Amino acid sequence: MTDRKQRDAMEKHRSNEQLMKEGKKRFLEELHKQIHTMEQLLHRMEEDYEERLPAHFYRYAHTLKGSAPIFGFARVGAVAGVLADEWEWALENTAGCPARQSLQNSKANLQQLMMEAAIIERELQLNEKREQGGRTTGLTGKLLVIDDDDVLRSFLVRRLELDGYIVHEAASVESAQQRLREELYDLILLDLMMHPQSGYELFDYLREDPTLKWIPLIVLSARSGVQDKVRCLTLGANDYVVKPFDYEELAARIFSLLSRVKNFEQLAFRDPLTGVFNRRYFDQQIEQELLRVSRYPAPISIAFLDIDRFKLINDTYGHAIGDLVLQGLAYLLQQQLRTSDFLARFGGEEFVVVMPNTAGDQARSLMETVLQLTHRQPVAQYEGQSYSVTFSCGVAEWSPDTTTEEWVALADEAMYRAKQQGRDRVLLAGGSANAAMRPAPDPSLRRKRVLVADDDGILRSILASRLKKLAYEVTEAGNGEEAYQYLTENDVDLCILDGVMPKMSGFDLLKKMKSAPDGRFRHTRVLMLSGKKRDEDIAAALQLGADEYMSKPFSLVELDMRVSQLLEDAT
Ligand code: GH3
Ligand code: MG
Ligand code: MG
Repeated sequence: MTDRKQRDAMEKHRSNEQLMKEGKKRFLEELHKQIHTMEQLLHRMEEDYEERLPAHFYRYAHTLKGSAPIFGFARVGAVAGVLADEWEWALENTAGCPARQSLQNSKANLQQLMMEAAIIERELQLNEKREQGGRTTGLTGKLLVIDDDDVLRSFLVRRLELDGYIVHEAASVESAQQRLREELYDLILLDLMMHPQSGYELFDYLREDPTLKWIPLIVLSARSGVQDKVRCLTLGANDYVVKPFDYEELAARIFSLLSRVKNFEQLAFRDPLTGVFNRRYFDQQIEQELLRVSRYPAPISIAFLDIDRFKLINDTYGHAIGDLVLQGLAYLLQQQLRTSDFLARFGGEEFVVVMPNTAGDQARSLMETVLQLTHRQPVAQYEGQSYSVTFSCGVAEWSPDTTTEEWVALADEAMYRAKQQGRDRVLLAGGSANAAMRPAPDPSLRRKRVLVADDDGILRSILASRLKKLAYEVTEAGNGEEAYQYLTENDVDLCILDGVMPKMSGFDLLKKMKSAPDGRFRHTRVLMLSGKKRDEDIAAALQLGADEYMSKPFSLVELDMRVSQLLEDAT
């Protein structure tokens, strides 16, 4: 084909399409008019019958049967065909009189034509929107239409689909129950009058199942009586629509109900501080995910993470900064996750990530990436100050013979090990569900705990930060009493005591430790600090049982050396 011929052909194709579009629009206008006329004809046949009316009606039906397929509306053609068949006798037998049944049938068929017209109208609207590059907006959701009227049901399904909903259908209470067992729906449309079981029987079924009883439900009913309405609403329906109904009204009710529920879900399943999902959502969703995996096998992993030394952030900068840090970390995590993953705040400073279609080692490296990011950038900033945190994380892949609880425990246990091994790391749970039993802490894995007791805040924080760099776990105390309190409640490997402190001096504290009746502090090393380089002090301290002695001012190198000697000796 030459260029020109090709261009002509294209041109022709385009103008044919345009013609078709115009034709469809005009057909629809005509269809509305014809349905209206046919309705009036039926009405007149009932009220004041004239012999010519049936033939008249037939001709309308017959014309429609022929024209509709030309524009691609086969369903309209088919219904018109049924109507034409019903009235064909009138051509031969002009004196005949229609049976009551014929009138009833035709009314139903006209209803069906109206529904078809509504569908066509919507389709044309959508096409136009699409051509203008517009997007179809609105809520989406999965709906279940339960009605034994095939015509109405199929209309509703198609019409709702055109509005962007995912729609499933059921023609009986029994098949509805089956559907409800298999899928999670956002809303149910239920016809009351059905055979053999009525819609009422589904109410009981829904109410008894805790996962189903919250699904919004709209009753469709031919009965307009207040009693039916009241009965349905008290049984748990959220809305009641009388048949025949206007589709637009039903659509508006569906929309309003869904958006209200979506808002409610937002509140019920979100953590207000961070905006991520909450524990409740996690509990519910994890079961859904596992159900899915049992149907379509695929790996799935979870990660448990706990912020490292978060209490210190709160204690040092205040709770408000702690909150900012929580928000910041949640945000960072959310940014890094894929859309199929979900993040929930599990409790205080613990988060859980669910990663469908992800094997354990993949999940671990994903979390590793996030952890690396926390090293490079602060998670929160406030008034020019930046706040960084790290976290400890345990990852576990689900295996078919594990329960949800065991699986979660596996991840939790791996997180706990990550803490023990020095925090700021991601560990993958290995082995069977038995490994979920939390093992007794291995003392060689535990980081050495050091208590620094000094009333000089600056010196104390220099010591603490230095020791933290050496990967010790450090706690600070500002006086002797505070230090003693901590010692009695925690296993401390080394305490560094200032000789002179308020409330209880370092010397008194040391005495107290050494004279403890059960020798409970015998594993705790003591390093005494003194402001005065006095031999008597040194002698006194060593006599009391101190393991080491340092005089202020001392160098950090000296500190490093003495501390590491003391702690290595201890193992
Ligand atoms: P580790 O590394 O062992 O996890 O130490 P940690 O300090 O993070 O752990 P710990 O469990 O001792 O402390 C957690 C702290 O988190 C205690 C609690 O006050 C704080 N926390 C819990 N929820 C919130 C919250 O919503 N906001 C703030 N600011 N702090 C919270
Ligand atoms: Mg914690
Ligand atoms: Mg923590």
